[in-house]
Amino acid sequence: MFEEIPVEVGLVHEGERVRKNDMQVELGGPNEPEKCELVRVRPLDSITDGDISIVGPDIGSMEEGKHYPLGILVEVAGARVEPDLEGVIERRIHEYSNYIEGFMHLNQRYDIWIRLSKKSFRKGLNTFRYIGKVMLELFRNELPILEKVQITFITDPEKLGPLYREALAAYDARDARARGLSDKDVDVFYGCALCQSFAPTHICVITPQRYANCGAISWFDGRAAAGIDPKGPIYAIEKGECIDPEKGEYSGVNESAKKRSMGEISRVFLYSAFGYPHTSCGCFEGIAFYIPEADGFGVVLRGFRDVTVNGLPFSTMADSTAGGRQVDGFHGISIEYMRSPQFLHADGGYDRVVWMPAETKERLKDFIPASVFPSIATEKDVTNIPELKAFLESRNHPVVQRWTAAEQAPSQPVVVSAGDIPITANGYRIILKNARITAEKVIIVPVRATDDSGGDLHGAQKK
Ligand code: SF4
Repeated sequence: MFEEIPVEVGLVHEGERVRKNDMQVELGGPNEPEKCELVRVRPLDSITDGDISIVGPDIGSMEEGKHYPLGILVEVAGARVEPDLEGVIERRIHEYSNYIEGFMHLNQRYDIWIRLSKKSFRKGLNTFRYIGKVMLELFRNELPILEKVQITFITDPEKLGPLYREALAAYDARDARARGLSDKDVDVFYGCALCQSFAPTHICVITPQRYANCGAISWFDGRAAAGIDPKGPIYAIEKGECIDPEKGEYSGVNESAKKRSMGEISRVFLYSAFGYPHTSCGCFEGIAFYIPEADGFGVVLRGFRDVTVNGLPFSTMADSTAGGRQVDGFHGISIEYMRSPQFLHADGGYDRVVWMPAETKERLKDFIPASVFPSIATEKDVTNIPELKAFLESRNHPVVQRWTAAEQAPSQPVVVSAGDIPITANGYRIILKNARITAEKVIIVPVRATDDSGGDLHGAQKK
């Protein structure tokens, strides 16, 4: 099927990493303000099946080691292809392009981050035409309802602008669809195992009120995907008995998680960052991180380039969050989940959020309760924890009442829950599963990520 492609194409290459020193070029990523991938459903007679266009410089004319903007527009048509499928088909770009040897595709939508390795470039992978051909073949094979597929790669920044703006509007419209539907209204949730190539124990549980971590798949998308490809990576989960409505624990979700994670994950709390939180693979849009000194949460999105109020940047905390583990207080989330009434519901919701970047706060202002909105600090208000605490006190943030309650309670030992903790001693590797350690004192020393492609990616696979 891929005879003319100069590198290998196959599942074996999914999850491959391309480090900065090994990369020929970077496309999109944190250094490019505008990048995107978008699928559009078109009328059958308006596109040319198999057409691959490149607008702007092709890979072969790009300077080694540099980064470039990129937009990928996939136009599809078919008698049974509805616009509702756009988000589902779009997420397959991540999967299919990662099959290509030496081609690393990370993240999604407006945030794609791609690297091509020098090795694959030297083997002849020097044009988007090859990437397009692989995607075309896989789309046709895996999704036979697509009667026509046409792909355009745009690297010219001026031509990319209109596509980028169209893409942002399309994502917003998709996200808004699922709002208003409650988890109680449906009997079936959806699971996605697409990221298991990077984080083998991770699955996303996609409900009307808990959007996928990557922000690319809604409950409606899950339903559409499971409908067209029931044996594919997105599948139905009978939600079963509601064990705990506050935490969002369902018997069907627990059974499914256990089966799909090969027994590693046996319980999932959909609306909490503690206990048995939803796992995080690595392509989450943001992190909700617990700040013990304030007994509240900070929230940071991937695009925030500065350090957060706890002194750590997104990339460092992403290492603690990713990898398909359940880590108390480090929780991978999507932006749409932050618009949900169930956002961290069991932990207090927005009444427990104490810090977020100003841009994120502004973006979510229609979804943050007005009662707490002025009390949430941003990087413009505070730069460290003591300043944060003073700010929260001055604004009478709801968490301040928790401090008073804690002061009046008898003192408790420090309990740290850190998922699986590996210990190496005398040539043996001991792993404490779901360990809970009680200590008189805990010293936490931040470790900065050593590679700019590693920290905010799929931590468990970092080599
Ligand atoms: S983050 Fe979740 S929903 Fe998104 S592709 Fe990965 S597993 Fe699927």
